[in-house]
Amino acid sequence: MAKYQCDNCDYVYDEAEGAPKEGFPAGTPWATVPDDWPCPDCAVREKIDFERVESE
Ligand SMILES: [Zn+2]
Repeated sequence: MAKYQCDNCDYVYDEAEGAPKEGFPAGTPWATVPDDWPCPDCAVREKIDFERVESE
């Protein structure tokens, strides 16, 4: 599972956790999140602005 971070704030979408409050249950792959999904924290960035966080 990968993580993706908003390039404007510190919000991180973790595929393992999803974003239940946003309607994406745990385990939801990033690929299924709509391209125009706004960052739930800052709302000024969309999915396409997120960058993949490499796991260590
Ligand atoms: Zn953000």
